Amino acid sequence: MRNQKIGKLLLLLVLISNYDKSLAHQAKREPVHMFVEAGLSNTGESAGKLPDLSDTVFRIARYRSDKTCAISYTFDDGLKEHYTWVVPQLKQLGLKGTFWINGSKINDPDDPGKDTTRMTWAELKEMAAAGHEISNHGWAHKNFGRFSLDETREDIEKNDSAILNNIGIPSQTFCYPNNTKTPEGVKLASENRVGTRLEQRSVGGKSTHANLEKWVSDLLRDQGWGITMTHGIHYGYDHFSDPVILWEHLKQVKDREDQIWVGTFKEVMAYTKERDAIRYVIRTKKNGIVVEPELALDKALFTQLLTGVIEGKFKKIRISQGKNKLNHRILKNKVLFDFDPFGGVIDISFM
Ligand SMILES: [Zn+2]
Repeated sequence: MRNQKIGKLLLLLVLISNYDKSLAHQAKREPVHMFVEAGLSNTGESAGKLPDLSDTVFRIARYRSDKTCAISYTFDDGLKEHYTWVVPQLKQLGLKGTFWINGSKINDPDDPGKDTTRMTWAELKEMAAAGHEISNHGWAHKNFGRFSLDETREDIEKNDSAILNNIGIPSQTFCYPNNTKTPEGVKLASENRVGTRLEQRSVGGKSTHANLEKWVSDLLRDQGWGITMTHGIHYGYDHFSDPVILWEHLKQVKDREDQIWVGTFKEVMAYTKERDAIRYVIRTKKNGIVVEPELALDKALFTQLLTGVIEGKFKKIRISQGKNKLNHRILKNKVLFDFDPFGGVIDISFM
């Protein structure tokens, strides 16, 4: 008499991630509704133990930890000022940046002929160890528009090798010298990478407290991903009228960390591509749901965990993926958990 009908209530739904790119700038969210066959919550005595799942929504967060927008701070040309000024500020705030470097211009303390306004490999290695992204801006900063494809390829590969040999971490993103992007150059630079910098917001000589504040408000409104491009700080190309503008801006963003994800270019690029490409199947089970994710991307490159969101009010919940128990955060109207999109079936039990 008990548990009648429960068995046949399992239903299979193929839901696809619904982040259409055309919706990317719209403020409205389009959660994927979790359809539960009518009657699940009122079938016999055991029903009392079952949560009512009819209002429950499962979705993949647009950004890590379901934040509203994302920012990647990126710094071009490997300037010494980035090491002396930017890195300490980022460290103080617990933020990570992306630094695009040219191997041919790296400063060498043993070579007096080298450009001392650039960073050394030792400094870059130290930054990478602290979690900053050190990545490829071409070996000799060759403008893609002015060189043959063979020369461009050589320039990219030489810098890849230099970064790997000196830092020990492969460069998996790319930033175009002079932001010059030819279709063939973009194709070449994108091979075997998480992504390349195709657009950016210049932050430097023209930046003010007001225009940076407006930029952040727009990102929050549009749920956007802002990618900055900064060169000089105090004296380098396009330096700030007063670097305090940048430090204050970083502090203000840090203060809104609950809404803004500050991640390296590689992190946010990988997350957004995984988020857009993931497909999943949801099944209901007796006391919860089972999510089967599938991601057709290169597992070696796309290593970001995705954030799953279960909307609804829950007191207690248990989430596991394979043999791993997943940590989760129960908030007022939702539960957040990070999962490996390549990690197989996720089992979610409501208690
Ligand atoms: Zn540059």
